[in-house]
Amino acid sequence: MLAWQDPVTYIHGLTAQQRRVLKALEVESVGDLLSILPRRYDDYSNLVKISELPIGEPVTLKVKIKTLNKMPTFRRRIVIIRGVLEDETGSISVTWFNQPWMLEQLKSGDEIYVSGAARRHPRFGLGFSSPLWEPATAETLASGNIAPVYPLIGQVTQKTLRKIMKAAVDDLNVVEDVMPPIVVEEKKLPSLLEALRLVHRPSSQEDAERGRRRFVFDEVLFYQLALRLARNLADHGGAPQIKFDEKFAKKFVAGLPFELTADQKRAAWATFQDMTLTRPMRRLVQGDVGSGKTVIAAFCAAMVYRSDLSTAFMAPTDILAKQHALTLQRFFKPYNIPILLITSSTRYVVEGGEGVKLTIKEEKERLTRGRIVAVGTHALLEREQCPSDLALAIVDEQHRFGVAQREALTVLERPDAVVPHLLSMTATPIPRSLALTLMGDLEVSVIHTKPAGRLPIVTKTLVGEAGRELAYRAMKDAIKRGEQAFIVCPLIDPSDKLGSKSVEEELRRLRIGPLKDVKLLSLHGKMSAAEKDQAMNDFKEGKADVLIATTVVEVGVDIPNATIMLIESAERFGLAQLHQLRGRIGRSDKRCTCFLVATDDDANLSRLKVLERSNDGFVIAEEDLKIRGSGNVLGYEQSGRGIFKYARPEDVAVMAQARDVASQILQDDPLLQSNDKLRESAEFIRNTAHGE
Ligand code: ADP
Ligand code: MG
Repeated sequence: MLAWQDPVTYIHGLTAQQRRVLKALEVESVGDLLSILPRRYDDYSNLVKISELPIGEPVTLKVKIKTLNKMPTFRRRIVIIRGVLEDETGSISVTWFNQPWMLEQLKSGDEIYVSGAARRHPRFGLGFSSPLWEPATAETLASGNIAPVYPLIGQVTQKTLRKIMKAAVDDLNVVEDVMPPIVVEEKKLPSLLEALRLVHRPSSQEDAERGRRRFVFDEVLFYQLALRLARNLADHGGAPQIKFDEKFAKKFVAGLPFELTADQKRAAWATFQDMTLTRPMRRLVQGDVGSGKTVIAAFCAAMVYRSDLSTAFMAPTDILAKQHALTLQRFFKPYNIPILLITSSTRYVVEGGEGVKLTIKEEKERLTRGRIVAVGTHALLEREQCPSDLALAIVDEQHRFGVAQREALTVLERPDAVVPHLLSMTATPIPRSLALTLMGDLEVSVIHTKPAGRLPIVTKTLVGEAGRELAYRAMKDAIKRGEQAFIVCPLIDPSDKLGSKSVEEELRRLRIGPLKDVKLLSLHGKMSAAEKDQAMNDFKEGKADVLIATTVVEVGVDIPNATIMLIESAERFGLAQLHQLRGRIGRSDKRCTCFLVATDDDANLSRLKVLERSNDGFVIAEEDLKIRGSGNVLGYEQSGRGIFKYARPEDVAVMAQARDVASQILQDDPLLQSNDKLRESAEFIRNTAHGE
């Protein structure tokens, strides 16, 4: 007898070691524990033999360890364990990196299961690199044909987790299911209890999948309810009406240093239309990197100012916020529109043609007075940093913001309970159906064409030292023409989270070697905000020729004079991310080249070549999807966290179903007043999102 809310310590027959594991996992209730779903399943009913081992396909083998040894390496921090595995049909090599404890756990003669995808190594032949493994004991054999593989947390082994989960799910018999029974019945969903049994103790892959879909359905449904509830509440509150001032619009367009493209005009005009209504706008502007989204934001903020109200313009990083403030200053000059920049290091106001630093008190006072364009990071979401008469919230590179922050935006309220219009901008191509699921009902404007006169960025995939030489030569030529260049370094080891080490090492290497006559500048996460600002400004003003940086330059940074980009260890990045990175160049009518330098021939060069062939973010995202699976399209990897815990982009059908059900439920009861359980669940999601 075990209930969903019971503390994990109630699980029957736990050993002292398992209790310690649970404590380390920080799961408190049985429900928390069982909410950790298997990532995949090993199908022990379908074992392959070494003689028939396919290359590159995930499989499971039952093998005996023939040899296992630690290899000598020159690099102290790296431990390589290499061995030979055999069954009656042949033998293969195996390598484990940085898992010194393997030698204590395994010895020759042991029988184990290994799962992974085999590769052909130039020296060691066919084999596995760091495969998952499990001893082939009587117990694993008896555990049934389909074994769940859980996401591993810390040093907990699969074996321990499986045992604990099994004990919990076998004993569980009380689960509260808040889903209306009619939905469960109509959509032919398993009950929650049944779904838990299906995912943790499946008898076939199909069963496991059926169970998983119930979790996806619930997750998307509650998320949708939360979004739509927020939307309904917002509609209830209403938004400030922004008058469309046609005369001003014409003047603004005529005063720009360039001609707006037709798509830019369409996006701006659609936004103006939305903002004339009292229904709060939810509009997404999608446009590839360099398509010119910032000017649309500026235009809309100016229009709001004409209505005597405020805008908050949010960027994902301090650097970008600062840059936006400078850009706005340029666009706004003739109209004297005040700009307030709020970053972690500065509070700065530009008003009446003059820029002044503010104290916290002065900033507060200025925000209260309103009728201003506030630019900053998500700190602007905090009520005290938000103009009191906020009418428009603009979120740039919205995929960079966590769901939590995004949700907070949809419920953002002014002190008088009026809800601002929301304009998000993204360079990440999201299919419309997914956008609806992730962001609720919204209007989408797409900018298809780039400003006229842009030459496509030429991209070249190169390898190693020889390739680098070529890139340096091109870089020096460009510098002679008065142009600038970026060098992007990946993080070299896990301890180098902020990239300071890799950037500084590269700077030292280049300074004495290949680029010794060139003015170099570095930028990485360990620098203070002020130092970063300084570096960006110096680079923008042409005080250096080459900026060596981490991927901090990935989002939005606009330096039209930079025409060359060299990306080191390019194979470590996703295609979409590389496309974002190279979008930092090609922002003028000059010829631009991006060099993707792969470490060695082992790197998957054909993947990188996709970027040589295409300059279209949508095409690239699709290729990435084919090559790397679903995660990257939504910027999951870029932002480091998924939007959903269970749902994957390929679950579109279940998502659509859950979306429909959510809209049906709310149609009859827009504020969920007659369904306390559902409302509580939806509010729970909203509140946890809010408070993060
Ligand atoms: P993104 O869509 O990636 O945010 P930006 O707004 O930073 O792009 O614009 C990229 C560059 O193109 C900027 O230097 C901007 O001034 C310029 N730009 C924007 N629109 C036009 C246009 N219609 N014609 C020429 N240049 C433009
Ligand atoms: Mg931008």
